[in-house]
Amino acid sequence: MHIVSSSPHFDYLVVGAGFAGATFSSQMARLGKRVMLVERRPHIGGNAYDHYDDAGVLIHRYGPHIFHTNSADVFNFLSQFTGWRNYEHRVLASVAGHLVPIPINLDTVNCLHGLALSEGELEGYLGSISEARDSISTSEDVIVSRVGRDLYERMFQGYTRKQWGLDPSQLDASVAARIPVRFNRDDRYFSDNYQAMPERGYTRMFENMLDHPLITVVLDTDYRDVLKTTAFGELIYSGPVDEYFDFRFGKLPYRSLRFRHETVDQEKFQSAPVINYPNDHDYTRITEFKYLTGQSHSKTSIVYEYPCDGGDPYYPVPRAENATLYKKYEELSNQSPKVHFIGRLATYRYYNMDQVVAQALQLCTKLTGRSRGELVRAAIAQTVAAAV
Ligand code: FAD
Ligand code: UDP
Repeated sequence: MHIVSSSPHFDYLVVGAGFAGATFSSQMARLGKRVMLVERRPHIGGNAYDHYDDAGVLIHRYGPHIFHTNSADVFNFLSQFTGWRNYEHRVLASVAGHLVPIPINLDTVNCLHGLALSEGELEGYLGSISEARDSISTSEDVIVSRVGRDLYERMFQGYTRKQWGLDPSQLDASVAARIPVRFNRDDRYFSDNYQAMPERGYTRMFENMLDHPLITVVLDTDYRDVLKTTAFGELIYSGPVDEYFDFRFGKLPYRSLRFRHETVDQEKFQSAPVINYPNDHDYTRITEFKYLTGQSHSKTSIVYEYPCDGGDPYYPVPRAENATLYKKYEELSNQSPKVHFIGRLATYRYYNMDQVVAQALQLCTKLTGRSRGELVRAAIAQTVAAAV
């Protein structure tokens, strides 16, 4: 990272050093643009930030982040900045004294319904217990139409009420649709072509993204504190969109989490990387980080997630009334041609990391008129040249 002493003119003032801001900055710097990246937290990485805790275990401060994507462009773009550790994520749900795979698969159904179905029989069985719906508009519709009411109530309803403070019937279909149903014994959480963790962690990857002579990183600083003293061309904003407009139309709801991190003096804590608790406790899930990172250590560190309102905004809340309010902010955003909004908070979308990278690269293509593939290839060529 490079701190400047004089006050040059920046092509871009980028707000937020998460995936959105860091992707944009690193790509544009590699096209010769001068960037100032301002972050109000004391670290880069946004919510993907990881670090070693007091015991020396690599943890994710803001909850478990597992990288997965179907986009070769996104994977190739990030591969400039990190090697990868192959990792396929698995999650168990604690239901009625059993630990069963989620997404629901053959083993989940056989265990919870006391059956011995074969792969060929599961689809028919689920068809016989599912509820027909004329249209699928809520998360309840998605689940009961796929697996019926019993599995819905035992695996989704309680978890969703805790996670969002809302019943699945009050949430868009897109929320529960993130979780597939499998008619076989595949117990992976994701099905994407690329599933991997940054070899030396997310923060190291971000450091490599931002290590460029044309990028100036300023931490612990709200962008509003530098707006008047910094000469720049265009603003790239990845903070909450309602905050940018001083809550002109009211607050957009974001769901927050309280994280309880613990280190345990034993090598292993639980039998899976993540265990979900749909029906018990105030927390939704416990993550044991060593499964994700592959680190060997005599101790292990875990995190409990307690959903709450207030606090840092982590999740946009996908439901019709919020989409309507966001639309008003989006219209305002579109009226500011020199300000561009990217990322999960600024575009109020329940995006995964790869989607945010793709969105930031999309903005680069819009501003340069070059295709995404072309941009990624140009950046890779530059990174390789710089490394020689
Ligand atoms: P952020 O990471 O939120 O970055 C925005 C940054 O802007 C923040 O650092 C903030 O401090 C800064 N900022 C805001 N306002 C200002 C201001 N006024 N001045 C200066 N700086 C400002 N995705 C996956 O793909 N896989 C996962 O397994 C996964 N797990 C997740 C688990 C949890 C608990 C959460 C909350 C999210 C998870 N995600 C996961 C989603 C992932 O975190 C996001 O897609 C991604 O981090 C969003 O990046 P971003 O840059 O849009 O936002
Ligand atoms: N979900 C659930 N039970 C589970 C796992 C997920 O009801 O055991 C629902 C819940 O509404 C959750 C959503 O599916 O918010 C999306 O889950 P995901 O694991 O993708 O959430 P994230 O990792 O983004 O918090």
